[in-house]
Amino acid sequence: MSGNEDLRVAILSVVARLEEKGFNHGSSGNVSCRHGDGVLITPTGGNSGNTAPDEIVRITYDGTVIGEGMPSSEWHMHTQILRAFPHVQAVVHTHADACVALSCLRKPIPAFHYMVAGFGGDDIRCARYATFGTADLAASAVEALDGRTACLLANHGMIAMGKTLEGAFNATIKLETLARQYILALQAGEPVLLPPEEMARVRGKYGSYGAGRVPG
Ligand SMILES: [Zn+2]
Repeated sequence: MSGNEDLRVAILSVVARLEEKGFNHGSSGNVSCRHGDGVLITPTGGNSGNTAPDEIVRITYDGTVIGEGMPSSEWHMHTQILRAFPHVQAVVHTHADACVALSCLRKPIPAFHYMVAGFGGDDIRCARYATFGTADLAASAVEALDGRTACLLANHGMIAMGKTLEGAFNATIKLETLARQYILALQAGEPVLLPPEEMARVRGKYGSYGAGRVPG
């Protein structure tokens, strides 16, 4: 694993922190990062306790394994996202509770809080349903991520991307927090949504202090 050990350790650090947050039920989460002309991705069934750095799997963008191991069953989603968004370096997928709950409504998270604008638009979309592990789910996620840095996956979970692994991890934490807060607001009443002009103003402010469109 010469030359990319740091990156492999960094991927496992993200996995461990997703577990600490309770986002990685039964190894359901997976993490990937570009490396050279391929992608490093967590192995199928991998968690921070059962995976060594050299067990992070290296694959090409068409899913061919370079070396050994079996990549996450969601490798289509990771590689298609990295192909579709050249500025993105890392992708995190989880079944975090609040995101899963909202994904079952198959609706976007609207502009109930200004921080929704930090994901690139006036809402955070929910990708149309497709069976887990399929190229069709990957295409659905790419569609929902257009102009955004994260989305929900219908009846499944969430996906976030970043210019770095830390950026993708932080976007995951922010999205799950917003999802939980949106559910709380829905329980208390009918949230008042921010108008598009206010969301545009917030996006401008994020841009002005470097938060940008892809967290990084
Ligand atoms: Zn999943």
